[in-house]
Amino acid sequence: MRSRFSRGKIGVLVLVFVLIKGQSILAFDAPTDIVVNPGATAPSTAVLRIDRRDKFTPRHLEQLRRGSAMARELLDRVANLRDTILIVRADPALARKSGLYGRTRFWVHAGELFGFVEYQAGPLNSFGTQCLIVHELAHAVEIATTDRKAGTRALRSFVLERAIGSDLGAETEFPQQVALAVLWQLQRKAAGEDSLERIALSHQITLPPITVADAMPMASTGPH
Ligand SMILES: [Zn+2]
Repeated sequence: MRSRFSRGKIGVLVLVFVLIKGQSILAFDAPTDIVVNPGATAPSTAVLRIDRRDKFTPRHLEQLRRGSAMARELLDRVANLRDTILIVRADPALARKSGLYGRTRFWVHAGELFGFVEYQAGPLNSFGTQCLIVHELAHAVEIATTDRKAGTRALRSFVLERAIGSDLGAETEFPQQVALAVLWQLQRKAAGEDSLERIALSHQITLPPITVADAMPMASTGPH
């Protein structure tokens, strides 16, 4: 007999477990082994940086763009985050090394927000893994609203103020809602009734602009 659970359903269950039980965590420190741009495929001005040896992440991002309008919008908006660099890296051994499926470190250096996203490439199905990436990027969008002048410590306080019940105390609701909404879209179960703007509004988050054209005047005008 065939199992009652398809791979897709198991992926959803595992993702929900990961996100609710805190197997994806945030930390607020700069890793010592990260060099921001070498070997990256993106130009030095790009927000999202992926190491060219990472074969998983570009594929996941492309599938996200194809499969979910909300993920596409999130990626377009992430690209317009101001003074932000996000490094995303697939690690096939992350769960074995750390017991985590996802881990993001955020820190501030010279007024710029840095995020280093590591995720487990492997045991989740592809949708589950993609939603883990969405979840971590949504954390970045949320955290990017913090005042950079106050440094890394302020990032931690900001997240803890918004934290929902979690063993690790650093989980917030916005990324969970976005990841689950994207998951429904990827699985063709929702026509997109929920919008990213509506979810952001309900969490008092100002989204970065969606188009490059919108972002340009902010980047090119006077002292700030
Ligand atoms: Zn999280």
